[in-house]
Amino acid sequence: MHSLPFTAEPPSTGAVERDSVAGDVSGLPSPASRADRAPVDFDVIIAGCGPTGAMLAAELRLHQVRVLVLERETEPVSFVRIVGLHIRSIELMAMRGLLERIREHGRQRPAGAYFAGIDKPAPAGLDSTYAYLLGIPQPVIVQLLEEHAIELGAQVRHGRAVAGFVQDDDGVTVELADGEQLRTRYLVGCDGARSTVRKLLGVGFPGEPARTETLMGEMSVGVSQEEVAAKLAEVGETNRQFQLRPFGAGVYSVVVPAAGVSDRAEPPTLEDFAQQLRATTGTDFGVHSPRWLSRFGDATRLAERYRVGRVLLAGDAAHIHPPAGGQGLNLGVQDAVNLGWKLAAQIRGWAPQALLDTYQAERHPVAEEVLDNTRAQVELHSSGPGPRAVRRLLAELMDFDEVNRHLLEKITAIGVRYDFGEGPDLLGRRLPDLDVKQGNLYGLLHRGRGLLLDRTERLTVGGWADRVDQLADATAALDLPCVLLRPDGHVAWIGDDQQDLDDHLSRWFGRPN
Ligand SMILES: Cc1cc2nc3c(=O)[nH]c(=O)nc-3n(C[C@H](O)[C@H](O)[C@H](O)COP(=O)(O)OP(=O)(O)OC[C@H]3O[C@@H](n4cnc5c(N)ncnc54)[C@H](O)[C@@H]3O)c2cc1C
Repeated sequence: MHSLPFTAEPPSTGAVERDSVAGDVSGLPSPASRADRAPVDFDVIIAGCGPTGAMLAAELRLHQVRVLVLERETEPVSFVRIVGLHIRSIELMAMRGLLERIREHGRQRPAGAYFAGIDKPAPAGLDSTYAYLLGIPQPVIVQLLEEHAIELGAQVRHGRAVAGFVQDDDGVTVELADGEQLRTRYLVGCDGARSTVRKLLGVGFPGEPARTETLMGEMSVGVSQEEVAAKLAEVGETNRQFQLRPFGAGVYSVVVPAAGVSDRAEPPTLEDFAQQLRATTGTDFGVHSPRWLSRFGDATRLAERYRVGRVLLAGDAAHIHPPAGGQGLNLGVQDAVNLGWKLAAQIRGWAPQALLDTYQAERHPVAEEVLDNTRAQVELHSSGPGPRAVRRLLAELMDFDEVNRHLLEKITAIGVRYDFGEGPDLLGRRLPDLDVKQGNLYGLLHRGRGLLLDRTERLTVGGWADRVDQLADATAALDLPCVLLRPDGHVAWIGDDQQDLDDHLSRWFGRPN
């Protein structure tokens, strides 16, 4: 497999960069540069059909963008890594009309007790209709998101790995592992922690290497559930390095430290798990019949840039961290919803200057925070007397509602506030689902368009009506005159003045028609 040489475009300067779409001639490539290049096959090629890639494909299809997803694996992976979807991701599923379908396959659990596993209930009165955790295995989420993307018109090809690419002024030529070449306007690397796209792009991935490794697997135990529970109660208080979670019918998810067991290069064995269980708990619970066994590390890294020219990164390709609090998949899905409409706007030709660069400006700091909270949680899971004392202290502090709420808003991402400049606290935050005359607010965001909630019945989206919907008399629950929502559900403007509204419509949705 050989890689095409990668030619980095100069960093984006914030200058208007448009595709060659009708009605806009500012960025048309010169005839000479076009003539010697293959015609564009797709608007966007996505490397990787994990949760991030599948969600991004669906978001782009809401805007009729021609999308191809290339997935290296032929079969879905069987690892059931995920705890579940946290509140903001559940809200996003509701915003895109996917929640009913996903909920059928999941189990609702209480939203609390995910920060370092400190056992405190979620604070009362959380500002969300969806204040729970939706437990659902990762392969099921991926399958549902992929089906959804395909229904919307995305093409997904399995067993096709991206091996190289070269970008130029008006597109990217992507080379697959089998040598096939495809031409696209943009390439997005959603190809996971070891991202080929990120490596070929030469983007730095600074952070900390893995300090510890953990074994995780699913297997049957040879003792009763009561015996397992009794042992966990006895050992779990002082030793937080292992976990056994029942899946029913004697099957457990088992997590144990990997230190001291077989060669890292080899896949873990059932005997590795048994040995580690004996070392940490004094018994191996008679484990047998493994369904799958895996190993993961606690490396923490963040890509220096999310975009170089026409190539972007999202999900684990852009950030990795220990699974504490169960945030990685959620973060990737949220990246996808932030990026989708912006990239679509760029391709459709209406993106205002530098809109695409707001993807990194908004999402990089969010990932930085997640990395930091997982670092803190890892320390709180350590079994030394110091970390255990800090953990007890934090548990006491979490009895204060505000502390508990702050930590829960971090883990569930409902506390995210993008920096849109000076303004009321709601500016830049997501709007929770609300009852409106026409039903519920999120039901109006299924198409991934902007939305003006107008109580004044004086304002209008005018020439932006092809990108932004308008709802009169809808914000009774908000007690605000007028709110402009972006397609990702974040508040882009609050006010009651038409000129001010027009300025903000231009800022987010480009020139009016
Ligand atoms: C033990 C464990 C527990 C976890 N628990 C949780 C949890 O509870 N909650 C949570 O939110 N997150 C959790 N995570 C993290 C979560 O699994 C990841 O963050 C998530 O899978 C990232 O999604 P992604 O789509 O960005 O990347 P991935 O899921 O890694 O998907 C990348 C895809 O790209 C494909 N690919 C790779 N290279 C190429 C290529 N060159 N060309 C084409 N395709 C390619 C891969 O086959 C893969 O399908 C956990 C992780 C671990 C290890």
